[in-house]
Amino acid sequence: MTPAPTRLSKDKRTHLRYSLAISLAVALMFGTATAVEVYWAVALSTTDRAKAVEAMAPVERVSGAGSSLLEAEVDNKLYYRVAAGPFPDRAKAIETRDLLRSGGWPDAWILAGLDLTADPPEAPVGAGALPASTASRTITVGLTWISGPALVVGTEGRIRAEGFAPEGADAPAVEAERAIELVAEGDWITVKTSDEDPGTKLAPPVTVEADIGAIWLRESYRVYKGAIKVTRKQGSDSLYVADVLDVEDYLLSVLPAEIGGNSPKEAYKAQAVVARTEALSFTGRHKDMGWDICDSTHCQVFRGLYGQSPNQDIVRAVQETCGEVLFSGSSMVRTASFHSSCGGWTESSEDVWGSRFAHLTNVGCRIDPGQMPDLRDEAILRKYIEEANRKDLCYGGTGYRWKASVEVKAVEAGLARMVSAGTATVSGETAGIGAIRVARRSARGAALELRVPSGTGEYIIKGELNIRSLLGGPTLVKSGVFVILPVSKDGSIDIIGAGYGHGVGMCQDGAKALAKLGKDYKSILSFYYKGGSVVKVY
Ligand SMILES: [Zn+2]
Ligand SMILES: [Zn+2]
Repeated sequence: MTPAPTRLSKDKRTHLRYSLAISLAVALMFGTATAVEVYWAVALSTTDRAKAVEAMAPVERVSGAGSSLLEAEVDNKLYYRVAAGPFPDRAKAIETRDLLRSGGWPDAWILAGLDLTADPPEAPVGAGALPASTASRTITVGLTWISGPALVVGTEGRIRAEGFAPEGADAPAVEAERAIELVAEGDWITVKTSDEDPGTKLAPPVTVEADIGAIWLRESYRVYKGAIKVTRKQGSDSLYVADVLDVEDYLLSVLPAEIGGNSPKEAYKAQAVVARTEALSFTGRHKDMGWDICDSTHCQVFRGLYGQSPNQDIVRAVQETCGEVLFSGSSMVRTASFHSSCGGWTESSEDVWGSRFAHLTNVGCRIDPGQMPDLRDEAILRKYIEEANRKDLCYGGTGYRWKASVEVKAVEAGLARMVSAGTATVSGETAGIGAIRVARRSARGAALELRVPSGTGEYIIKGELNIRSLLGGPTLVKSGVFVILPVSKDGSIDIIGAGYGHGVGMCQDGAKALAKLGKDYKSILSFYYKGGSVVKVY
């Protein structure tokens, strides 16, 4: 999702309007000269005005304070925030903030005072959730959804940008109240503190930090903990943005996206170790961008503070496993892959990716798994999919067994696309398509090569993910473990399959079931990662 480029003046206006709304609200209550300590609980942000209005009444009832609806316009879209207060003491504001959080506003936070620097900063969600200085590792997470020629970043209180000086000059930090604007100019980044400010030219990367330890970005007001790192890419007019934060804070936002709610705590803990291992082992994956990892499914889904859940089990799962990662032998594993449902047996990394890892082999997803059947055999595989096994730990979950139907026309179009993209090859004179055949499977039954007869020729598609893409995409065709039914409706192809995801490593539904059976996270991890062990590295 790349936001449409926004003109600078528009961004600036937006920000000013928003700042004005807060100042005005405070001024109305106290008069502009009253520099007393007051606290607000602010929830940000939604485009749904009704949702914002709905949040105001219960907050007023419980807190006994008024609330204000703050409005900001970005790209012709209105965003709303609810501010409850003012409160004369911090405790009441915290109580109200927590009320907002439990009411579906996980990003509620405290705004302190008229003089925003007068009070020790109160960081938003997640802050205070972790014991002080338990972790010293920072990670640079690329924010793939935002880039453009200019960027406005905001906060409450002081904000500071630092970069390198062009041509050896001194590069003092640029400081401002509440917002800074960064503009791509030539190879530089110009930092402005107001419309009138001609700006300070800095060489990238430019790091932006705020006193409260969190920064929000103009688009949809997503809030990020830690610092923001802004870089340039050669040959591009755009600015690229990354969040630089503590790995443990990062995990608080990754877990809800990667495993979801309603899981037993030991499953969260297993996921926390897995996600931490992935984060630390991916480091350097996006070196060209100056990032360690990215915020999309390519690495791990991360939405900043906005992605955090108020679920305390998730917070505690991260805390209680602080610094713990997955080892195989005497070193950290290169990858701790996971997937939502294996469908009965997990996949071997060697079979699907061609890279052999001792801890990523076929594992039967049940207490007493026995021998894996020869799922390369089409008839045995079909029986395996159709009969299912109630003893499977992931039995009955989403994608444990699935059906899909794809139009022949769509497959034909897909083949043409893949041939021109180089992900499929073709021989002979093609005309329509004949019966699709899986020519090669992994031992666990995942399709690794597909052959599609056409005229005098044949299409060949290799790779589990390419094959799933061709047959309707990885959401429809949930795994490579499938068979194409011989009798399909006219004009369409019917498929039945087992499992959701690539199947390598930990089966998340199985992990949840093991946790329900009373297994702790270490046993869950050693169940799915053969020879794997949990080691605390910091
Ligand atoms: Zn990535
Ligand atoms: Zn499973």
